[in-house]
Amino acid sequence: RGRAREILERVEGRNDNSLGVEAMELLDAYGVPTPEGAVVDSPGEAESVAEGIEGDVVMKIVSPDILHKSDIGGVKVGVETDDVYDAYEDLITRARNYQPDASIIGVQVQEMADLDAGTETIVGLNRDPQFGPMVLFGLGGIFVEVLEDTTVKIAPISEPEAREMIDDIQAAPLLRGARGRTPADLDAVVETLQRLSQLATDFPAILELDVNPLVAGPDGVQAIDLRLTVD
Ligand code: ADP
Ligand code: MG
Repeated sequence: RGRAREILERVEGRNDNSLGVEAMELLDAYGVPTPEGAVVDSPGEAESVAEGIEGDVVMKIVSPDILHKSDIGGVKVGVETDDVYDAYEDLITRARNYQPDASIIGVQVQEMADLDAGTETIVGLNRDPQFGPMVLFGLGGIFVEVLEDTTVKIAPISEPEAREMIDDIQAAPLLRGARGRTPADLDAVVETLQRLSQLATDFPAILELDVNPLVAGPDGVQAIDLRLTVD
């Protein structure tokens, strides 16, 4: 909790949509797994980070002016180490084409999550004027807006409440392994929901935190993309 406090003090009052990296540290401090990776600001550095990661990588533009990265082609999945240098420059070009005066922090190079074995879910935290901190869970990734399969509870939540949230969504059978799918590690999902609901309860300065996707795999979860809004 001490580390989380330090991170939040560092970003206090900075509401420029670029706090994804700080959010990763915050989750890390609360024991929620995040993929290996780093944010870099040169193609050479991108290469060295990729060399330190086993297998292909994902590369994403990091800019306070670009909220939905994939909408502008700002996410490249499955990049081989040999292609990382060019991919870096291409991502910057795409961002510039989208908005010539966009402020660009750099590129995030990230370990690949296994989306074939896992399901993309969403966990959201926000603050209701009447009820205080709220936690949302549902089917994530590109489905979140289309299917709106989500459920909400008041934080902090107990373990039975976290299990109830999983059962509440229509996609629950998918997570349990319907139709030959690999069942997700639901204990890890429950633990993550509880830890994040605790984070929202502990820190009123967190106005909103969206984890989308939280990949729920057979052996745990990974928080892959985050959006943080602080007071
Ligand atoms: P945004 O939501 O801003 O478009 P994301 O980081 O959520 O950016 O990436 C968009 C999609 O790309 C994700 O929903 C996921 O399907 C895929 N993706 C992103 N990062 C990874 C990763 N590390 N491993 C596998 N797939 C990823
Ligand atoms: Mg996302």
